[in-house]
Formats: sequence, structure tokens, C-alpha cells
Amino acid sequence: MPELPEVQTIIDGVTTELMGKEIRSLDCFHPGTVIRDPELPEEVFPAEFISSRRRGKYIILNFSGDLSVIVHLRMTGKLVADSSQEGPVNHERACFMLSGSSKLRFIDIRTFGKIILCKTKNLGKFMPDLGMEPLADEFDARYLEKILKNRKAPIKTLMLDQKLIAGLGNIYVNEILYRSKLNPTVPGGEIPLSKLKILAKETKEVLREAISKNGTSISDFRNVDNKTGEFQKFLRVYQKETCPKGHPVSRIKQAQRSTYFCPVCQK
Ligand SMILES: [Zn+2]
Repeated sequence: MPELPEVQTIIDGVTTELMGKEIRSLDCFHPGTVIRDPELPEEVFPAEFISSRRRGKYIILNFSGDLSVIVHLRMTGKLVADSSQEGPVNHERACFMLSGSSKLRFIDIRTFGKIILCKTKNLGKFMPDLGMEPLADEFDARYLEKILKNRKAPIKTLMLDQKLIAGLGNIYVNEILYRSKLNPTVPGGEIPLSKLKILAKETKEVLREAISKNGTSISDFRNVDNKTGEFQKFLRVYQKETCPKGHPVSRIKQAQRSTYFCPVCQK
């Protein structure tokens, strides 16, 4: 499942692809993939690309005519740029036809992904409540202290809660907790401020490193140009047998997700 670094990598690729272009039309091949704001006029295309940004794991694209497009990749969604004239490929659920006869295909095996077309002024209505962006300057030990106060749930589970921190998923939370030397089962409210400082710092470092490596390709993550990310080469505990210090890595289930951690390094 794409997490913050993968979504950012896709946005960077999509932005390069869309720059100076307009969307001519959007074809939909799977009912339910495309959701439309009822306030939009019937004809929204052609629409000229203006800008892009990320919020949590959501891609937000801004177009002329007060049009915004939210793309949520969920489990298996991919945006793939393609200049071939071929019709829909396997698992293609929707396709943006662009000026210059290129395409942006939305391919999604599991069909949980969504493309939402809405008026830019209505963006808030179509976005869920999300916590702070972990790469924001304000994301620090004090913010963590505030959101974790009195929380008895394990830190691993709390960090995956999108309402507390936006964009983290299972791979990166495992890696962040390893680098922070924090046991994933410790209740969030019991972590001292000194350790929260390390946790905030390692969160940013892991995410920045992963973005610089174009994300992690464990299952089928691909960038817009169908290239894989490289961060899987730098993982320290996720799906590993031993940690970098040679200790055996433990695997447990927390909230239905696999947790990998080193019981020696992460006391
Ligand atoms: Zn270890």
C-alpha cells in the first residue's frame, strides 16, 4: 500500500507529466472508481493543469475552472503515464486523456482506489479529517506529546492512525520505531519527552530518505514511469530476519498488521 513517500513520488511524476497540459476527458471503466461532486457542471473538461500537492496519502491536483481532482490509491492503485494509443489495459479503471495525445491510466487491481472530481472550494467536504503532516515544521516532540497524552494503545497502532499523523503506513512505522529504539508495544502515553524528540526526528529522516529513493517497492509500487523505488534496499527491520546489528527480528500482529522489531535494540 503506497504510503507518504510513494504518494509523494507519484505526485512528482504526475506533475512533470501534466505540466503545461490539459485534461481533455476522463474515461471510466469501473463503476464506483470515479466520484463526482454534484455541484460540478456537466462538462468540466478540457481543464488546464495548475498545481499539485499531497495531503497524507491523498494526491490533490488543481485545474482551471475551479476543478480539483483527488486521487486515493488505497491498496493497489497506480497512475501510469502512457503515450501509446492502446485501449484499456488489464485492471485499468479510469484514464485521463491529455493534450498532446498522452494518457494517464489509473490501474487498480483491488478496485479500492478512488478518483474524486470536485469544485476546488468543496475540497474539504471530500477529504477526511487528517492529523498533522509529519514533514511539517510543527511536527515535533510537543505535538507527539499532545496527541499521545494518556493514550494506552501501543505506539505502533497510534502512529498508523491517520487522524493523528497523516501519511504513515506499516512499512515506515516499523522502520521509524526501530531507528528510534522504541518498542512498538509500549503504550503511546508512557513515552517520555526525550524519546518523543528522537521519534519526531527519525520520522522525518526516514520519510525524507524514502522520498529521495523514490519510495519502497515491496509489492507492486511503481512510479508514473513504471520504475520501481529503491528504499527497500535500506529497510532495517521490515520483512527482515535480523536487524543491522545481527539480532533476530521478531514478528507480531498489531491491529491486524505485521510488526517487525528487534527486542534487543528496541527495549
Ligand atoms: Zn537489534
